[in-house]
Amino acid sequence: MSVEIMDNRKFIWGHDRRFNAYPNYFRNIYVTRVQKVSIDAGFTCPNRDGTKGTGGCTYCNNDAFNPSYCTPDKSVTEQIMEGISFHKWRYSEANSYLAYFQAYSNTYSGLDRLKELYKEALDYPGIIGLIIGTRPDCVTDEILGYLRELSERCYLAVEYGIESCYNKTLKRINRGHTFEEAIQAVELTSSLGINTGAHFILGLPGESRQEMLNQAGIISRLPLKTVKFHQLQIIKGTAMEKEFRENPDDFELFTWEEYLDFIILFLERLNPAIVVERFTGEAPLRYLTGAGWGKKRSDQIVSLIEKRLEELDTWQGRLFKSKVNSKEQEMKSSPSLRSREGAEGVSS
Ligand code: SF4
Repeated sequence: MSVEIMDNRKFIWGHDRRFNAYPNYFRNIYVTRVQKVSIDAGFTCPNRDGTKGTGGCTYCNNDAFNPSYCTPDKSVTEQIMEGISFHKWRYSEANSYLAYFQAYSNTYSGLDRLKELYKEALDYPGIIGLIIGTRPDCVTDEILGYLRELSERCYLAVEYGIESCYNKTLKRINRGHTFEEAIQAVELTSSLGINTGAHFILGLPGESRQEMLNQAGIISRLPLKTVKFHQLQIIKGTAMEKEFRENPDDFELFTWEEYLDFIILFLERLNPAIVVERFTGEAPLRYLTGAGWGKKRSDQIVSLIEKRLEELDTWQGRLFKSKVNSKEQEMKSSPSLRSREGAEGVSS
């Protein structure tokens, strides 16, 4: 494909990257780079405090994912202040931030406490919105009603840990909720006009690669604004580590090369209207069982994915089949997207 055609090429998401990328999504809204600042506000979750269980999800060790500045002994304000200076050296152009309530289940409390914590974050200069990570079974009508109100005043997204579309897997990893509960929470949240996101883990035990791939179609039918994917990493000290050591043959962990091939197939089937925030998790090496992917960083994987999409002349949603055809017609009329022989137009 000539550079000339690429220069004129715009996908349904409004830019020429071959997937609906999260940073560009924010640039479209705010013109500038928006950076997330993580917060551990001291929540727990029903899968740990005894409400649903005490052991937690078998893969979970929050310490492996929390940035070092993020500890619950500091106030929300202190964590934001440290988070902003932590990110400044790498993303010096960022001057707008989203407070990311990340650790554990960040709606798992009474509404008064939630209001206080969210307000403290929003009062910090430069914070333009909130991202709230939680479980599908940790939202109530009252909480979602309040979040809907907040979302009229600032950027607000609720991100649900869903992890798998299969109940057999959710049971095996001890999630303590079903996929149907996840669908219900996503649909309710989205119906209130709140940006709704979801996290999934690819490579969970008991799922074939074909089953993993089929999730692209299932996820595509959910009213999601954003998604995050993580390759399964076995984290030290978790129940899954024990399971892995006892039955390693039960696990088929992706090498990064296999993951690259898999993600291309997955992206081609994913609804192009869904913004992809992440393709990989990046737990520090000291937390990992086995070699993992060595020092490969998430941004390097993104570059490799984009290079491969380019080489194959393919893109997110190329094979997505939607029942709603209006957008498809629109995209079929785009000369840039007719260039791949036999390709379906993207739609949403
Ligand atoms: S992954 Fe989330 S829901 Fe599961 S145990 Fe950890 S904090 Fe709780």
